[in-house]
Amino acid sequence: MKKKINLTELVREHILNLKPYSSARDEYEGKVGIFLDANENPLGSVGGGHFNRYPDPLQREVKEKLASIKKVDPAQIFLGNGSDEAIDLLFRIFCEPRKDHVMLLPPTYGMYKVSADINLVSTVEIPLRDDFQLDTEEIVSSIMPGTKIIFICSPNNPTGNLMRKQSLELILQQASGLVVVDEAYIDFAEGESVLPLLKEYENLVVLQTFSKAWGLANLRLGMAFAHPDIIKLFNKVKPPYNVNGKTQELALGALGKEDQKKEMVQTILTQREVMEKELLELPMVEKTFPTHANFILVKVDKPNELYNILIDQQIIVRNRSRVTLCEGCLRITIGTEEENQSLIKALKALQTA
Ligand code: PMP
Repeated sequence: MKKKINLTELVREHILNLKPYSSARDEYEGKVGIFLDANENPLGSVGGGHFNRYPDPLQREVKEKLASIKKVDPAQIFLGNGSDEAIDLLFRIFCEPRKDHVMLLPPTYGMYKVSADINLVSTVEIPLRDDFQLDTEEIVSSIMPGTKIIFICSPNNPTGNLMRKQSLELILQQASGLVVVDEAYIDFAEGESVLPLLKEYENLVVLQTFSKAWGLANLRLGMAFAHPDIIKLFNKVKPPYNVNGKTQELALGALGKEDQKKEMVQTILTQREVMEKELLELPMVEKTFPTHANFILVKVDKPNELYNILIDQQIIVRNRSRVTLCEGCLRITIGTEEENQSLIKALKALQTA
């Protein structure tokens, strides 16, 4: 073990002392019985279907299956209403409003800052270097006792690059609090997940999601992997039934079809390669940045104009041109072959107009 943590120092005192809500389904875990404990409707569901019973508050079946795929213990998994729920819970569990702070490494995923603002937690921002890698020295020298969480996104949104493992480990070693590595796009990456590092660093929290490679964004299911004591805190603070039954059922089904996920990833990666090539042939494209995700950051002439022209044709990309280090850039998600070709066609037409 390279890094141990003392949760009594890290966790907000009232959360440490919190007596959590105990739901009816927490108190009796059996599946068979006459259930007169949860004030549910015994007759069924309006509109049909079987939605009248509360779901498993701890999503045990999904976690069992996920644990074997990810090679972790079920006790190291938290499931939430998207990984956005896990991000918000991290603030509520670890960060004292107006006192603690978190470290953000822009340009990066916008919800870290929004969650910080919602929770009245200030942020220290250490921009990425020009090559979009971590400014490890600056990060390490800026760590203070109140730096409760450092958010690292890898592959990073919106730049698409993976962060170097060596830098991640250095930060994990030096951090005074938690290091969150958000791997929402890891299934599209050539590099490895940092999940195996959980064995060495108790201060590591890894976020992943069913919203990207698994194609289940609509179900809202996010994962956090961490030391079992951190997961216990997540479970203490989350709303009792934060993941609905249908989502649990469909996620369990999906986990049994990992091959289908891999095939879809392959199709997207092939399309990504085609798109990189075709975009670079267009005169308004200055460069594309190397990507390990299902999107490409593209530097173009007149990004705002281009963005609006595309919108007029109902082709919607993400305008990142006002974001630090992404000046002039649009972020383009890899769509189906037809969708991608519509975009390329629209851009080619501009060239000749
Ligand atoms: N992390 C990153 C880096 C993301 O880009 C996103 C969504 N765009 C999320 C987390 C949130 O994902 P979820 O759908 O699981 O809430």
